[in-house]
Amino acid sequence: VASLPQGNAMPVPALSFEFFPPRTEALEQQLWSCVRRLEPLAPRFVSVTYGAGGTTQERTHATVAKLARETALTPAAHLTCVGASAGEVDDVARRYWDAGVRHIVALRGDAPGGEANYVPHPEGYAYASDLVAGLKRIGDFEISVAAYPETHPAASSPEADLDNLKRKIDAGATRAITQYFFDTDVYLRFLDRALAAGITVPIVPGILPVSNFTQVKKFSGMCGTAVPDWMGHLFDGLDDDPDTRRMVAASMAAEQVRLLQANGVDEFHIYTLNRADLSYAIAHILGVRPRKAE
Ligand code: FAD
Repeated sequence: VASLPQGNAMPVPALSFEFFPPRTEALEQQLWSCVRRLEPLAPRFVSVTYGAGGTTQERTHATVAKLARETALTPAAHLTCVGASAGEVDDVARRYWDAGVRHIVALRGDAPGGEANYVPHPEGYAYASDLVAGLKRIGDFEISVAAYPETHPAASSPEADLDNLKRKIDAGATRAITQYFFDTDVYLRFLDRALAAGITVPIVPGILPVSNFTQVKKFSGMCGTAVPDWMGHLFDGLDDDPDTRRMVAASMAAEQVRLLQANGVDEFHIYTLNRADLSYAIAHILGVRPRKAE
């Protein structure tokens, strides 16, 4: 009978956690209680998203700066180039550099109203690879970029999308973080294809704990992540039962990360949605324990 290895038989993986910048006082408190709970797990870095079209520019900056100032964590700022001139984007990047932030997650971002409307800004960076090159001219940032095991929805082919990832790495990115996925085989096959294409930087799986199946299903349709039938079955009948849903979500994520770990994956990026409990449980299952106070 095939079995998954026990946690203590595996090397402890490196983690990163993703947050979004809070919009209200209540969400601000939720974020910081999440940060404080996850901080002792000593992630490699924590990242803060940039709202669609740069709409959270100030809030992202404030959150990243506070993480740098008030915690022991290493923050990474997401930055998109859609809808802005290269000069405007460079100014945001320079502010980060001046604030001592050295890690950027460089993205193109989405066009308002959907992909069919994407038109590069006339004076902007057209694609994330152009943004990566621009950032490198500003400072020697550590740069992470996005990767799509199921292919970005607007790519002309899986090969073209992989070529694009290669361009982002060649421009100076040193890590890719994947869009979330639920089919582990798809991710593992993607790693093989990326390696065959000459991509040797880490391609870190993005793990989304599914606390709200209905929302995840809707969002997945837009970002090109397949939601397998077995997931529908798993969450069937739990719409009004959040407690059971969270337990199911924890066990599903546990299965996914342990399967990845058994296949040699030793770095994980967790989309926390600013809630600590599922992320903490996943980290724990992977063998991560809080750092002892000095
Ligand atoms: P790119 O790498 O530029 O690719 C975009 C598309 O263009 C792909 O289909 C690619 O194949 C194609 N392409 C690239 N170059 C060319 C070319 N020269 N000619 C023709 N086609 C080309 N969005 C936010 O708004 N804020 C965030 O904070 C954020 N964080 C994210 C974090 C992660 C880990 C991931 C996976 C996604 C995140 N996104 C975020 C979403 C992201 O902005 C969208 O998925 C966006 O549609 C693509 O961004 P990209 O950086 O992958 O773009």
